Amino acid sequence: MSSILPASPVTCSVDLAAPGVHHGHLRLPHSRDTSAWGTLLIPLTVVSHGQGPTALLTGGNHGDEYEGPIALFDLARSLGAEDIQGRVIIVPAMNYPAFLDAKRTSPVDGGNLNRLFPGHPRGSLTEKIADYFQRYLLPLADFVLDFHSGGKSLDFVPFAAAHHLGDPPHEAACRQAMLAFAAPYSVTLRELDAVGMYDTAAENLGKVFVSTELGGGGTARAELVAIAKRGVRNFLCHAGILAAQAEPAPTKLLAMPGDDCYVVSHHQGLVEPVVDLGAEVAAGALLARVYDVQRTGAAVAEYRAPRGGILIGRHFPGLVQVGDPLAILGVAEGD
Ligand code: CA
Repeated sequence: MSSILPASPVTCSVDLAAPGVHHGHLRLPHSRDTSAWGTLLIPLTVVSHGQGPTALLTGGNHGDEYEGPIALFDLARSLGAEDIQGRVIIVPAMNYPAFLDAKRTSPVDGGNLNRLFPGHPRGSLTEKIADYFQRYLLPLADFVLDFHSGGKSLDFVPFAAAHHLGDPPHEAACRQAMLAFAAPYSVTLRELDAVGMYDTAAENLGKVFVSTELGGGGTARAELVAIAKRGVRNFLCHAGILAAQAEPAPTKLLAMPGDDCYVVSHHQGLVEPVVDLGAEVAAGALLARVYDVQRTGAAVAEYRAPRGGILIGRHFPGLVQVGDPLAILGVAEGD
């Protein structure tokens, strides 16, 4: 693919092969009304020492998710070269314009970075960022960790995630890395919409890939930041890069065996949550009510669990639109 595409317009201000700790930027020309010859500067840190694998650690793929960026800005200022064997590349806020605007998608071009892979070097700004990760950063990596949380529209129990993959040894390697992260939950995630995802791009290149969902609501919580900080270090220990001791913690293994793990609203209105995140629900249990806010006295819509499981995610804002996921269920492995 790279043989037929032009070079990326993105340059990296630091030598990714140089030993030591280097803080710099990915530089992307961004000509606009307010800065005719402007440049988008996406912060990046590379830490390199001795021989070993490379880990690529990212947050801010969606710009309104914060536990990952906090853990990665913290790691970038604290990780020493002598702490590791190999290389760690840290980009705390991948979709940097979205991150600065506190939005899921880019204010520049509306780009949802996690639906635009493999991107294009002559595409929109967000497609150019995707292309740089696809062709320049992912190929350097052996282990890839991409932090997500629910953003302004979703909230989740804290979990690390892996996917079912066609290749059993590859799937097992991703699963082991997910377990090493040691979030309270480990979910083999069923994606509704895997096309264009960074996850898929990394997995298709054979990388050991883990993502997370850690809370949401467009903010961060101390408990979840602590899970993110511990998890990224555990991930680097598992990769054989960080020499420190891993901090294991109990995790509940969950699967998502069918599309009925997603409960979608067919009503617009006011959500009454009936159970909270982490609750175990039986098949048929009431999950949420949706009130018609155009009038009083109208029938209330009731949403019930299509199957038994644990409520791992739900709609965050108080008002719901038709088509929004109201509830996301995980099922204990083996159930
Ligand atoms: Ca996300």
